Amino acid sequence: MVVDTSIEQFAGSLRGQLIQRGGPDYEEARRVFNGMIDRRPRFIARCTDVADVIACVNFARQEGLVLSVRGGGHNVAGFGTNDDGLVLDLSLMKGIRVDPGKRAVRAQGGCTWGDVDHATHAFGLATPSGVVSTTGVGGISLGGGIGHLTRPFGFTCDNLISADVVTADGEFMVANEKENAHLFWALRGGGGNFGVVTSFEFRLHPVSTVYAGPIFWSLDRAAEAMRLYAAFMAQAPDELNVLFAFTAVPPWEPFPEHLHNQNICGAVVCYVGPLEKAEEVLRPLKEFGPPILDGTGPMPYPLLQTAFDAVAPAGLHQYWKADHVTDLSDDIISAHVKFGPDNPNIFSGSFTYSISGAAHKAGKNETAWSYRDVNFSHIIAAADADPAAMPNHTQWVRDYWEALHPYSAGGAYVNFMGDEGEDRVAASYRDNYARLAQVKRKYDPGNLFRMNQNIKPA
Ligand SMILES: Cc1cc2nc3c(=O)[nH]c(=O)nc-3n(C[C@H](O)[C@H](O)[C@H](O)COP(=O)(O)OP(=O)(O)OC[C@H]3O[C@@H](n4cnc5c(N)ncnc54)[C@H](O)[C@@H]3O)c2cc1C
Repeated sequence: MVVDTSIEQFAGSLRGQLIQRGGPDYEEARRVFNGMIDRRPRFIARCTDVADVIACVNFARQEGLVLSVRGGGHNVAGFGTNDDGLVLDLSLMKGIRVDPGKRAVRAQGGCTWGDVDHATHAFGLATPSGVVSTTGVGGISLGGGIGHLTRPFGFTCDNLISADVVTADGEFMVANEKENAHLFWALRGGGGNFGVVTSFEFRLHPVSTVYAGPIFWSLDRAAEAMRLYAAFMAQAPDELNVLFAFTAVPPWEPFPEHLHNQNICGAVVCYVGPLEKAEEVLRPLKEFGPPILDGTGPMPYPLLQTAFDAVAPAGLHQYWKADHVTDLSDDIISAHVKFGPDNPNIFSGSFTYSISGAAHKAGKNETAWSYRDVNFSHIIAAADADPAAMPNHTQWVRDYWEALHPYSAGGAYVNFMGDEGEDRVAASYRDNYARLAQVKRKYDPGNLFRMNQNIKPA
């Protein structure tokens, strides 16, 4: 039991707010992105600086409390909260500094990708992240980070230059290629297992106006469209990223009314090469079908980065399953064509990310991210505001995933997985798991950081 004097001391040591169960702000503060997660932590500490983070880590360790570290709160498994423990909420730590000379950005652990894109776009620069701007920098970077810039510039974690970390014993350290290099290796894909990252430094690339947007096809062309996608990506230049989806058209502008809520398959493209070459590079996709909608064109990169935000509002009930696949074989395409068209609504779908190009440049043991040899990573996601609709949606996700899983490369992207147990985590790190467990033993032998895709200390 935590005694009142320890709580008072802890609260007094913080610059940020300590929210206790039952107190004002508690109901709003305990929520995470996934409305299905209904946990009631004892304490939520809204940290404002590194000193607050150190105080939280020490308090949780000394009092034997379960500790959740929360950045953007998007983790669908709900690792950003817990029952009866402490949530270390970084969301107020939003400092960002762009260094255009060095082509780098430093962002504190509470930033979202919308915050970072906004800051770097002013300099005509960007770093790879995910496809929804409200997602946290912390969770994405530490798990890997795949999105519209993966093929040109690699995963988010490939662009990490340095991290400030508070480890389980409350020590502050810097991790990069030169300092604490094993920790730095583990942070690039190993998730939140090793400490609280208070600040990240990322490499930036010249990205300003991109040629991007969606191309939709009707479902009766789905098998051919997916085969085209597979063949097209095998020879596409690294400057081009394409994500393939089965989903539904949102019922709002700029989508034409006759397509609203209609299930479709489609591609979302992002080309960072010379704009005058974009149409030619994309011609096979733009001419196939013909598309029922071609929304591609030049746009500021942050516009693309926020384009999915409206179909990913906070608070919906979410259920996801995922896998990596080496190639889009006929069996995989058949499974997509069978289940994709039953997508339940505009908030749901299957999304096949391309993870080739620059993402293949690092070796499979060079960072914690092991699957450098696969070309695609898919996620099947169902979401709804109505919890009563979820059993059916969940069954659709499971059936769809089970049809695809026999063709999986073995594991999945940890940030797309639910809380699926130790074997799944081990399969997702393959032969990097043993080294990760060693690093875990060094920096967190007591497994204080276990609210994550957990790596057990060796
Ligand atoms: C709508 C939506 C779209 C998404 N799209 C993509 C996408 O396109 N590409 C992609 O790669 N992923 C995507 N994701 C998945 C995303 O990578 C994970 O949900 C990730 O966990 C979110 O990070 P967060 O900081 O928002 O989450 P949180 O729930 O705050 O954190 C998740 C976990 O990360 C760890 N963590 C977070 N911050 C820190 C930190 N500073 N220090 C130490 N540990 C930390 C903790 O273990 C925590 O439990 C998406 C998620 C959602 C909900």
